[in-house]
Amino acid sequence: MAQRAGFTLEEIKHLTGPTARRAETSDRVHELADRKLPEIERLITRAQAVHEWLALAATCDCRTVDVCSLFTDPALAPPPGGLGALASDASG
Ligand SMILES: [Zn+2]
Repeated sequence: MAQRAGFTLEEIKHLTGPTARRAETSDRVHELADRKLPEIERLITRAQAVHEWLALAATCDCRTVDVCSLFTDPALAPPPGGLGALASDASG
């Protein structure tokens, strides 16, 4: 279950392993939440930016990137980092 929530094995061990039994569970869980919440919120923000851009891209019928506003209009530029950054964030 914890792994499905996006925790690494190391983080799960930190929560449930032998050393965790010497500390209040709520302290451990709060510590993890404090560390992971900003991380996940950044990921959601970036995912939403990528989602918006992809939704626009789905409506594109340009023949070349030179005429495509997704690439020529700075306001519509692809989100920095894009999907590659999302994937590397998720694994590390
Ligand atoms: Zn286009």
